[in-house]
Amino acid sequence: MSKTERLILDLENTKIAFSTKSDKALNKMYRLFQLMKNNFLVNAGSSLGLIALKLKVPFTKYFIRNTIFKQFVGGETLDECKQEIDLLSKYNTKTVLDYGAEAKNAKEELDKVMNEVIRALEFGGQNETVTVATVKLTGLVQDGVLEELQAKGSLSAVNNERLEQLLERLHTICSMAKASDVAIYIDAEESWIQDSIDQITNKLMQQYNRDKVVVFNTFQMYRHDRLDFLKESYNNAINYGYKLGAKIVRGAYMEKERAYAAQHGKVSPIQKDKASTDRDYDLAISYCLDHVDTISFCCATHNMASTIKCAESIHKLEISKDHENISFSQLYGMSDYITFNLADAGFNVSKYVPYGPIADVIPYLIRRAEENTSVAGEMTRELKYIREEINRRSKN
Ligand SMILES: Cc1cc2nc3c(=O)[nH]c(=O)nc-3n(C[C@H](O)[C@H](O)[C@H](O)COP(=O)(O)OP(=O)(O)OC[C@H]3O[C@@H](n4cnc5c(N)ncnc54)[C@H](O)[C@@H]3O)c2cc1C
Repeated sequence: MSKTERLILDLENTKIAFSTKSDKALNKMYRLFQLMKNNFLVNAGSSLGLIALKLKVPFTKYFIRNTIFKQFVGGETLDECKQEIDLLSKYNTKTVLDYGAEAKNAKEELDKVMNEVIRALEFGGQNETVTVATVKLTGLVQDGVLEELQAKGSLSAVNNERLEQLLERLHTICSMAKASDVAIYIDAEESWIQDSIDQITNKLMQQYNRDKVVVFNTFQMYRHDRLDFLKESYNNAINYGYKLGAKIVRGAYMEKERAYAAQHGKVSPIQKDKASTDRDYDLAISYCLDHVDTISFCCATHNMASTIKCAESIHKLEISKDHENISFSQLYGMSDYITFNLADAGFNVSKYVPYGPIADVIPYLIRRAEENTSVAGEMTRELKYIREEINRRSKN
């Protein structure tokens, strides 16, 4: 890291990074991350935790609530999240509400997810620092519909009806988003349903992003075709007279994508190596910055180099740090050194705050635990900064 970069953004200031944490909370966080470093413990803990929850073993919920849930989830309900949202806001950090339920199939369950998103949007309308709610299309439609649409281009009668219901749910959500002045991030998912998600999202953007960006699509830069798709999406927006909303991520389903491609005898959509993903990620951010008046984008990453590069480019291009079309985001409970140092430096930054009943957010928690185990570099960095801060405080 060069000296000029440090001047624009120092992500290693641990005092700022952990200012939201008491000494006790910091020590607890350190112990939890140390435990999660252990692959065996994470795998065994995930399986045993699920079994214990199913069997209603006493104290399981209590244990989960006070450890991994507390670290990575805002609360079981919106009201429970309020305290955390207010704390984030005190440190100039906005909230993206992420209802944590995983895909279900019954119509009533899908309507329930829609109603939760609607509630999140209403809540956002009343809380100034809640600026976005997330939507996962697989949480709003039965399994198989998006896949069939993509593979065949048409649907069976029953799936066609389900698609119509999905579109109705989405229009209800987008209308509420517009009325509440809270945006919607549509999550990116697996490549075998992503074309369907893109098609639907483009139509929503065309309808709802005329004056202001209400709907954001997500672009996964671990795919080798996504930089071109970002440019195509931008040209589409210009041609049809709407603004593009773009959340730029690297992508969360790499192993699953590779396995699916191998199983179906297809070429994997994933880049040939990490360096190619990193290159396209930074190029995508650069592209968004070059079109910042017509693309509203979120640099959604825990990668320090990409974050600094984006901050540096904003500086070089003489764009205001708090430009309304630029924001950064990290997941709640992770990479606080990025979030709070960005906020302190005056950039727009948010935390993705998942919430929901413990049993429903368990798959999300297992993913976080596994991710923190497998991403050795990230974990080491997380622990290094917490340790540095504990040492710094002990000297004061
Ligand atoms: C706010 C937020 C929202 C998100 N929303 C979504 C979403 O909607 N959809 C989604 O899929 N993900 C989403 N993610 C997860 C994201 O895609 C990444 O999995 C995660 O953030 C790790 O990547 P990173 O940019 O933080 O940095 P790093 O830790 O530097 O990158 C790790 C990532 O690089 C890529 N990678 C690793 N090894 C290789 C390799 N050998 N070849 C090619 N690529 C490789 C993978 O994508 C891996 O996850 C989100 C993340 C955040 C922070």
